[in-house]
Amino acid sequence: MPTTTTRFTHEQAPCGQAVDGERFRDWDDECVLSDELFYDCGCRSISHEYHDGSVSRSVVRHDGKVLEDELIGEQ
Ligand SMILES: [Zn+2]
Repeated sequence: MPTTTTRFTHEQAPCGQAVDGERFRDWDDECVLSDELFYDCGCRSISHEYHDGSVSRSVVRHDGKVLEDELIGEQ
């Protein structure tokens, strides 16, 4: 399964700061696509896309506050 890790710089984190971080993307049989962003300040943004087309997304700020947690496109 291909997994890619990308280092990014100066991206806007969910808390509003422009920080560096890392992005992981991988694919497997269960969950079609995982896209996870980890910001150096501690914020993270994770989305998973499934075979049926639904997408789950969660955004957690570096202090632990959940800014977004949803499942989109559930049938
Ligand atoms: Zn942050």
